[in-house]
Amino acid sequence: MIPVRDDLRALEGYHSPQIDVKVRLNTNESPLPPPAAWRDALAAEMSRVEWHRYPDRQATELREAIAALHDVTPEMVFAANGSNEVLQTILLTYAGPGRTVATFEPTYQMHAQIARVVGSRVVEGERNADFTLAAEEMRRVVDSAAPHVVFLTSPNNPTGLVEPAELVERLLAIAPGLVVIDEAYAQFADWSALDMIDESRPLVVTRTFSKTWSMAGVRLGYVIGPAWFVRALEAVVLPYHLDTAKQIAGRLALRFVDEMDARVRLIVAERERVSAAMRAMPIDVTPSGANFVLFRPTSVPGRDVWQALVDRSVLVRDCSGWPRLADCLRVTIGTPEENDVFLAALDEIVATS
Ligand code: PMP
Repeated sequence: MIPVRDDLRALEGYHSPQIDVKVRLNTNESPLPPPAAWRDALAAEMSRVEWHRYPDRQATELREAIAALHDVTPEMVFAANGSNEVLQTILLTYAGPGRTVATFEPTYQMHAQIARVVGSRVVEGERNADFTLAAEEMRRVVDSAAPHVVFLTSPNNPTGLVEPAELVERLLAIAPGLVVIDEAYAQFADWSALDMIDESRPLVVTRTFSKTWSMAGVRLGYVIGPAWFVRALEAVVLPYHLDTAKQIAGRLALRFVDEMDARVRLIVAERERVSAAMRAMPIDVTPSGANFVLFRPTSVPGRDVWQALVDRSVLVRDCSGWPRLADCLRVTIGTPEENDVFLAALDEIVATS
């Protein structure tokens, strides 16, 4: 064995344990598949692909379709293999050795993780006990660290909280570098920072096909930002990073916006039902604008609740051992039937202990 880079020795990687259960509510996927008509259209186009040729390096048609969806120009769109690769490309381009990245914890772990992997210094700001972010704390971090890249996630993962638009405006006013708003879950929330994007501002917004579009298996994400930002990423990313199949899958998905909207409405309604039901139990529930809910049982330790749910064949995300999240669990909203199984199991566990 030869040693890895000194600064990576302590790195543990990102883990989301999978256990064989009947009801899997732990990775924030869509509980419903994409429409059958999408599958058929995909199969038809796949059979016509010239597989001996490299893909369209510019992903022209996919970018045009994404741009049309958001009413921007294709020059403002950069797509990659999941929003994780989008985040990595952003950090390779604007962070790296000698540069600083700021996050506000708890938030999506990959922001800090990728920042460290590319060799940046990470400065972690703190949230309030209710997981909201105080403007003073934001200013303190920005003033003291002068980050080259600063992240906000809205709705935030794992808390589900939506960042107020005023907070994003304030951050833009004071940030000396790039402001990245990770909107992996934005379609489930009531506002988006997309409207704030402008050539003259260092603001970019990342999105994914993994959640609302029911395409976690495809691995496709993108970022909308100023054209100068997109050009910079294109110079850094590997040639032909986005394969032909993925470009087609994403482009075809955007023909089914109405179906996507219907899935989002169902999940939002279920989220409200699940949250209300949990509030009637001895449980603290964080208000969510996403397709998951963070909760903290008050009558039984979180880890015991997680195990008791697994014993009843329900898997949720165990955040109870994560920093700042003692006793917390995160449940992804499933189908109405899956949610019923989860709620019945949870009720039994927190009431009988
Ligand atoms: N951002 C956030 C906030 C997420 O929760 C996730 C998925 N866990 C991602 C980005 C990555 O999504 P993907 O790589 O599947 O597009």
